[in-house]
Amino acid sequence: MAPQSVTIEEIDRAIAVRSFPPTFPPRLEARYEQDRGPARQRRLSLAAFWFAVCYGLFLGIDARLVADVFFTSAFVHLAVMVPLGFGVALIAAHGHTPWVREGASAALTVVSVATILWIYLISDTPAAAHYHYFAALPILYGNVVQRPHFPYAAWASGIAVVLHWAAMARGGLPVEVAIAAGIEFLAVAVVTLVAVFLIESELRRAYLGHLRGEITADRLSHSNDELRQLSHLDTLTGIANRRWLEAHLDEMADRSLRAAVPLAVMMVDVDHFKGFNDHYGHPEGDRCLKMVAAVARDQVRRKDDLIGRFGGEEFLVILPGTDLLDATKVAERIRHAIAATNLPHARSDIADTVTVSIGVAAARISDGITTEDLVRAADNALYEAKRLGRNRVHASTPGFTAIEVEPGPRRRRVSIALHEAAE
Ligand code: GH3
Ligand code: MG
Ligand code: MG
Repeated sequence: MAPQSVTIEEIDRAIAVRSFPPTFPPRLEARYEQDRGPARQRRLSLAAFWFAVCYGLFLGIDARLVADVFFTSAFVHLAVMVPLGFGVALIAAHGHTPWVREGASAALTVVSVATILWIYLISDTPAAAHYHYFAALPILYGNVVQRPHFPYAAWASGIAVVLHWAAMARGGLPVEVAIAAGIEFLAVAVVTLVAVFLIESELRRAYLGHLRGEITADRLSHSNDELRQLSHLDTLTGIANRRWLEAHLDEMADRSLRAAVPLAVMMVDVDHFKGFNDHYGHPEGDRCLKMVAAVARDQVRRKDDLIGRFGGEEFLVILPGTDLLDATKVAERIRHAIAATNLPHARSDIADTVTVSIGVAAARISDGITTEDLVRAADNALYEAKRLGRNRVHASTPGFTAIEVEPGPRRRRVSIALHEAAE
């Protein structure tokens, strides 16, 4: 289940007020239950379990104080209270609804007080006059060890006090003793209830502080991510900027070096873009660049491939683990996709629409070949694509220049010429 969303403002408002009984506004209460409910289930269940285990021990007292009804009292202890304690332990462990979990725990206290007072009333031994004091024990255990949420503890303690006073009224004790016992029981209930209130208030406040810190840290890391993203994006086209390109290129070059796999880069340049700007104006030029970026990005599909704006109307594409032939195919795909948009270009002397030229280079990064060599080779190939008539892909590999000045045996030119692809 997704965590209930709460805002820092809601938390701050809750911190500012001291509510009685300790509770939160509904959304915050739902989040509190989501976060702390499972731990409470475990704690209340464990408390009820130990209640059941310890209850049997008090039979020794019954044998001395209420010997005349010992069998009844043993039955109530062993056949009613102990199973009830284990039952509440199970209910609390599986009770995902707070009121079931808290209510069952509080009910255990009430039933326990009621049975002790009943045994006190049905016993006729003189020693039974001291038995009712034990009714304070379940209140102590309930409010100090079990500690259900304050409203449940308050109800349980209230009912227990009423039961105790009724028992005192019927118990045949001297009036002063009955009043003193009633006051003592009330005091135990009130004092332990105050403890329930204080502890729960403190726990809830600590939770709010913790939740606030958690949400603030979440927000911070979220805005850090956003900032990091923004600082890596080109503001005009929304694709990677030069900084990201360079970082990615270094990272992929490292991988190429370690894994001895090829790394391909391509330089994409809009043909006669100056003329486009002059004719249609700068804002239209910007829109054209956005289109070229978006269309080219759609053609760059593999994980770790990256396209970014290298500068002006030039884009760099990084294709890790790709050789020259495959990179050339991707470049052709990009060139076709951009031509297919049919964006009019009145100042181009090679087509009526916007076209791009692409220089491709690929190599295994090694001691002899650096990323700078690779980018330079792509740039040289681009230059060659322009020279050969634009709207085409030209491929090269570092160490070999694609520009022929003086052909000779030492100037082996590696190029996969796709000149005929120009249309
Ligand atoms: P070629 O076919 O040889 O690439 O010619 P070209 O006109 O495209 O190349 P040139 O380098 O002469 O011109 C590039 C133009 O790109 C010049 C510049 O005004 C324009 N440009 C660079 N950055 C931007 C930009 O962010 N927005 C717009 N609208 N134009 C830009
Ligand atoms: Mg250019
Ligand atoms: Mg250009």
